[in-house]
Amino acid sequence: MNGRLPLDHPLPGRPHRVYAALTNHCNRSCPWCSTCSSPAGDSWLDLDALKRLIPDEGAFELQLEGGEPTLHPRFWDFVALGRADARCRRLVLCTNGVVLPRTPERLRAWLERLGRPLTVKLSFNHHLLERDPGLPALAVAVRDALAALGAERVFVLNVRLRRGCADDDREVREAVARAGLLDSANIFFLQRYGFASGESSWDPPAPVYDRFSLVNPDGSVYGPDLQARSEGMRRLLSAEP
Ligand code: SF4
Repeated sequence: MNGRLPLDHPLPGRPHRVYAALTNHCNRSCPWCSTCSSPAGDSWLDLDALKRLIPDEGAFELQLEGGEPTLHPRFWDFVALGRADARCRRLVLCTNGVVLPRTPERLRAWLERLGRPLTVKLSFNHHLLERDPGLPALAVAVRDALAALGAERVFVLNVRLRRGCADDDREVREAVARAGLLDSANIFFLQRYGFASGESSWDPPAPVYDRFSLVNPDGSVYGPDLQARSEGMRRLLSAEP
């Protein structure tokens, strides 16, 4: 929506990417969450299960996501798993930022511990902004800390908007612009899957490439089928006490 190719868009030859949802637990509760995650989620990916799901051959990239992946008690072991494998060409962290340190020194140390090459995708939407007015400042701090840490580190602000709601979430778009974050932002409309599967006026998910696989917290694998993966996440939530 900002008139250029998205950051982190797949290039020819990009390694297979494993999108691992470490948990369906989240410390936020976006009403349309595409992975059917919430504070009620209580399913946690087993480290050994993910080890077994890494491609047998060739380079790969590992995206840690959720739910909120930083809440997994073994989050740093998952980071180490990727970093220990020479075939892992990039670690990608998708986070809502709630647990990230808010002081510059501690934030920098936290990000440095993730190693490199690294992409940090910080989620940004109406729900997250309402609950944390400090989110734009955090996004600026993460962007600047990654830049200061040097090459092979990329920051992406994952902005998601509700089509047809609150003037297409104008306040969210204006907050991104005010913070000077447009150059770091991937701005998309939310799509019709996950908790938003009943939003008939929203577009269905449309993956632009297929060299990826989706792993759920119970160790189930969905290839590149976003909707089947989300329905698997929904079943996890409904199966929990
Ligand atoms: S969209 Fe992200 S931050 Fe929001 S509930 Fe889902 S996992 Fe949590």
